[in-house]
Amino acid sequence: MTIFAKIIRGEIPSHIIYEDADVFSFLDIMPIARGHTLVIPKEAAVTLDQLSEKSAAAIGRALPRIARAVLAATGATAFNVLQNNGAIAHQAVDHVHFHIIPKYDDASGLGIGWPAKKLEDGEALAQAIVAKL
Ligand code: 5GP
Repeated sequence: MTIFAKIIRGEIPSHIIYEDADVFSFLDIMPIARGHTLVIPKEAAVTLDQLSEKSAAAIGRALPRIARAVLAATGATAFNVLQNNGAIAHQAVDHVHFHIIPKYDDASGLGIGWPAKKLEDGEALAQAIVAKL
């Protein structure tokens, strides 16, 4: 069982922000900005691609509402939503989670490396992905 499963069950304390039948939200214990909040499905999926449509829909409904509350409470006007999948993509807890991270006019918040390159085989790649939907 992951640490987030224990948080959902109340076995590990957290600063709860929101809860419904499918979604749980709480403050990140090591925030990179004030108001850094996690939003997770109650379903024990490891990565986003494994999440059921029911949980995905519930998370999708909750995220904007929780983001609005984080902004209103902190006074931030900008934020990032971060969602890591897999250890090499910086996922440390094996339970799907979305970070809501306010961005202030200081050094806190999410720093982003963005190694953009020219798109080479766009049409073939698009077709390969579409074929798997
Ligand atoms: P990841 O790198 O997997 O996307 O992020 C995991 C996040 O979970 C980190 O930001 C980390 O601070 C947070 N976290 C890990 N353990 C706990 C915990 O026990 N309680 C809370 N509230 N957050 C946690």
